[in-house]
Amino acid sequence: MLKELSRRQFLAGGGAGLAGSAIAALGFGGPEEALAQAVRPFKLAQTTETRNTCPYCSVACGVIMYSLGDKSKNAHPAIIHIEGDPDHPTNRGTLCPKGSALLDFVHSETRTKFPQYRGPGQREFKQIGWGEALDRIARLMKDDRDKNFVATNQDGVTVNRWLTTGFLAASATTNETAFLTYKVVRSTGILAFDNQARV
Ligand code: SF4
Repeated sequence: MLKELSRRQFLAGGGAGLAGSAIAALGFGGPEEALAQAVRPFKLAQTTETRNTCPYCSVACGVIMYSLGDKSKNAHPAIIHIEGDPDHPTNRGTLCPKGSALLDFVHSETRTKFPQYRGPGQREFKQIGWGEALDRIARLMKDDRDKNFVATNQDGVTVNRWLTTGFLAASATTNETAFLTYKVVRSTGILAFDNQARV
């Protein structure tokens, strides 16, 4: 009975917390005793913490991402662990199954990491820079707004509407980001404005 209990503790990793002498007294040999005396370094001890928001749904749970590397110039950062942020008021450290699997999402080979453009009549997307993408979006929005903005309706009432362009925002943002997004989009006169919380 005594030996069975010790084996269970050993397999659960509790061996590291037991004194080597106690292990030896329970009848284990040298290897078990050495393992019990070794203290495994905490795997997150040398990582850099970065706070972020889960991108999946409108709950917008806070997460902490742990990455290797200390942000020095030649260090190659790699995220090795993601968990709920216990200080975040929305989720208090908890994550649903989707959020708990964020590490796979981060390292997925099919994750889109840059803007892509597919021109008229073309079959393939091509990678473009963020500057080019933002310039193009701004240009197209400006041209369309100049062309289609409605300042007054047929009765002469001021309406300031821009109905030919819509905007889909991300709901998985902070309150502050959501507030600013709303203000910017509404200030243009866009009415067709939504986010993926309702998708
Ligand atoms: S962890 Fe789950 S509930 Fe929280 S934002 Fe992500 S998907 Fe939504």
